[in-house]
Amino acid sequence: TWEYSPAPESAALAQLRPSYRPFVDGAFVDGGGEPLKTVNPATEEVLAEVGTASAQDVDTAVAAARRAQETTWGPMRGAERAKYLFRIARIVAERSRELAVLETLDNGKPIRESRDIDVPTASAHLFHHAGWADKLGYAGLGPDPRPVGVVGAVIPWNFPLLMATWKIAPALACGNTVVLKPAETTPLTALVLAEIAAEAGLPAGVLNVLPGAGDVGAALVGHEGLDKVAFTGSTDVGKQIQQRLAGTGRRLTLELGGKAANIVYDDAPIDQAVEGVVDGIFFNQGHVCCAGSRLLVQESIAEEFSELLLRRIETLRVGDPLDKNTDVGAINSRAQLDRIVDLAAAGDAEGAQRWTSSCPLPERGLFFPPTVFSGVEQTMRVAREEIFGPVLSVLTFRTPEEAVAKANNTPYGLSAGIWTEKGAKAMWTAQRLRAGVVWTNTFNRFDPTSPFGGYRESGFGREGGRIGLEAYLDA
Ligand code: NAD
Repeated sequence: TWEYSPAPESAALAQLRPSYRPFVDGAFVDGGGEPLKTVNPATEEVLAEVGTASAQDVDTAVAAARRAQETTWGPMRGAERAKYLFRIARIVAERSRELAVLETLDNGKPIRESRDIDVPTASAHLFHHAGWADKLGYAGLGPDPRPVGVVGAVIPWNFPLLMATWKIAPALACGNTVVLKPAETTPLTALVLAEIAAEAGLPAGVLNVLPGAGDVGAALVGHEGLDKVAFTGSTDVGKQIQQRLAGTGRRLTLELGGKAANIVYDDAPIDQAVEGVVDGIFFNQGHVCCAGSRLLVQESIAEEFSELLLRRIETLRVGDPLDKNTDVGAINSRAQLDRIVDLAAAGDAEGAQRWTSSCPLPERGLFFPPTVFSGVEQTMRVAREEIFGPVLSVLTFRTPEEAVAKANNTPYGLSAGIWTEKGAKAMWTAQRLRAGVVWTNTFNRFDPTSPFGGYRESGFGREGGRIGLEAYLDA
């Protein structure tokens, strides 16, 4: 662990670097798109100006990725590919402090999270997949597993570095090459990752990074030169991409939104459950696809549990994301803050009772206080729509059957949590939940060996583990 020393270093880190522009065919280039300004959401000050890609740059990057796939990276022995990936993983770990600060500046998440979760998990993901690169042939992945080819990857702003590595690590381990489009509000750490790939000597064209807005993403995912599209983002955009790719024969995986239920039974370990529910919704300001945004608490303990929960939420410190004592940081963008404000207002209008933490908010920057709606009915927007912010909706249930029915009453199906001391009850519940990931007596645990992904409007395909590799292989 390290102590963060604020201002001077963060200012220096955010300064314009040569790498704040598209990375194509092994070099940082002047993109043909309009430069974008990335903002520190905690202050609303411009952090850096970033060069963006044009449709022409997308063509060039896809062509470079194709050439690299066919001439260097695809034919390379797995053991050689592993060396590059291990090197990249090591440099990410070595530069973890810099990456954590940059992630916090660009995204608004608390430094404690970027330092202890985002960056170490990204590095772990790279290490894990480096270990796969020379073992694909005898790991039950089919008689003759081959790379799919050129992958177009588009990622969101909530875990910028981690989402980049979730796409890049398995794709490269399997012998594919990648063109990655980071989100427009958080392009910086993906560009540092490109810097790191160059530092590790990764052959030109194997990884290309194209900053830009949705138009660059659209030009990429619709490009005929791709063999596979890997998308993480909103359900609306995921649906558009799926329609666009229909009939093209190109492979597609979609990691989309969620509205997870955290089910607390009356025999739950109460203190642990309170912590898990708090972490489930306030981690990363609730900008988490698998956030436990619906608390389902058994009626017999609902009052006692809510009291303990609100008391605990009162102690959360909202504020400067660079302060290592901060629990809840800044909302990533003005547009996202507006969306949270609107959905919370819909909760009031539909008759739910709003409770707001009394923690004072900073005077400037984009912040929203930890908020809990009680008396929530299943038909209300706060129970149905993904708020993607620090807002918890509380519903109650009487029987396990009712808990399962309510948990499954959503168009999504990404994750769920169960809190009970009884193993058999946990198993009974887990088997009936239509969610890709079910945690018991814990929440928001990620590991590169565990597949992650959803059902229904949360998308399809898995990332992580052996199953995650299948998306990047023709077996
Ligand atoms: P978004 O869909 O608006 O944007 C995601 C990415 O897609 C961005 O890079 C954006 O520039 C790009 N994009 C926008 N329009 C596009 C188009 N027409 N074609 C191609 N690309 C396009 O989502 P967001 O607001 O950045 O992210 C939040 C969403 O992401 C939430 O719904 C969240 O649940 C989801 N998410 C899911 C997972 C998961 O693993 N299931 C993980 C993180 C986030």
